[in-house]
Amino acid sequence: MLTHQDKTPVNVNGTLYRWPARPVVVVCVDGGDPAYLKQFIAEGSIPNIARFMTQGFSTVADGTVPSFTCPNNMSIITGTPASKHGISGNYYLDVATGKAVVMTGPELLRGDTILAQFANAGAKVVSITAKDKLRRQLGKNLDVSHGSISFSSEHADKCTLAENGITGVLELVGQPLPDMYSMALSLFVLDAGIKLLQQTPRDLMYLSLTDYVQHKYAPHEAEARRFYQALDDRFGKLQQLGALVALTADHGMSDKSDAAGAPNVIWLQDALDAKFGKGAVKVVCPITDAFVAHHGALGGFVRVWCQGKTTPRQVMDAIHGLPGIESVLDKETACRVHDLPADREADVVVISTANVCIGASAADHDLSGLAGHRLRTHGGVSEAKVPMILSEPLNDEYKLKLACAPLKSYQIFEFALNGTAPPKTHASATPTSTTP
Ligand SMILES: [Zn+2]
Repeated sequence: MLTHQDKTPVNVNGTLYRWPARPVVVVCVDGGDPAYLKQFIAEGSIPNIARFMTQGFSTVADGTVPSFTCPNNMSIITGTPASKHGISGNYYLDVATGKAVVMTGPELLRGDTILAQFANAGAKVVSITAKDKLRRQLGKNLDVSHGSISFSSEHADKCTLAENGITGVLELVGQPLPDMYSMALSLFVLDAGIKLLQQTPRDLMYLSLTDYVQHKYAPHEAEARRFYQALDDRFGKLQQLGALVALTADHGMSDKSDAAGAPNVIWLQDALDAKFGKGAVKVVCPITDAFVAHHGALGGFVRVWCQGKTTPRQVMDAIHGLPGIESVLDKETACRVHDLPADREADVVVISTANVCIGASAADHDLSGLAGHRLRTHGGVSEAKVPMILSEPLNDEYKLKLACAPLKSYQIFEFALNGTAPPKTHASATPTSTTP
């Protein structure tokens, strides 16, 4: 019988991944800013994560900028930067039509996913996400006809064998369909993962949560603690079931309100319209998705396309003087500094400081969903530092690798599969990354 050591490593987008010796579960805690862990570790309220951090491996890694959900999930699931996978936001502007195009279609994702390639090699893989907008990209080319599974909490009641590789998810989990704006939407993802792991052996799982709680509650608030305790309890269960648990986040989260509790917003479309006239430039907020009540489509990163005679240099000069701006970059510099795909990049990229966010026109953003809460959001460089935690320690090879280059959060599958202790039975060829 073939053991995991004998199986050929799986090549995904130029990186070789070793077969898991036991189930490997990678969890993306959406909006899981390192500040939450700092708070709850100090309080002693998340004992399982605390054990992973002391007995396994823990650090803070660099996430993908813009620090939004889609680009980071795609970086994690492909093991590549946005310049390779092409998903640099939730929206980009189609310059041919002048319309903002949603970037959640699998046809826009370049390269292969780690899950699909493992499934092709015969592994049983599972992808569960909170919001359905991510499901199709995470499940790109994933064959669910041979025991692999891909679904979202949001549409857990609509799963079919043909589309998702599973039916009867609500019955399996024993819970009603969770509300879109609730912590239950994330906990359902983890509970489903636990049930599937109890049911039958799985090789590789990717569980991607949603940041509803982190948008609404700061680390010192009781609801945030309650959420992290519920997460911690489930991470402990996954480990008890024999899994290696790997935790990261897609992005952090910053408070972007003033002392009185009002959002610190730069209305960039309004400011540029006042300077250059209407129609000269188009500001696109790539955080926008169908569910924006908790952030009003305000983030720390926006893109500006020049549509008339106004040049990128003129736009950059106009923005430089605005308070709360961390950087204003032309297309070429933005792509070089943040490793972004040039064909989907705007003429100008604007990033705000940690306590400020950027919107388009005040009239186009509905902030009523904040309902008295301080605005907490993400998108900039300030929110691109994320935790990376493994429930088992690194092997010597990956300790060395860690010492040689800054760690990217899109390396979490590589570290979980290749970087943990080698199997003890006999020595095997060590796969190495073929990308620089
Ligand atoms: Zn997110």
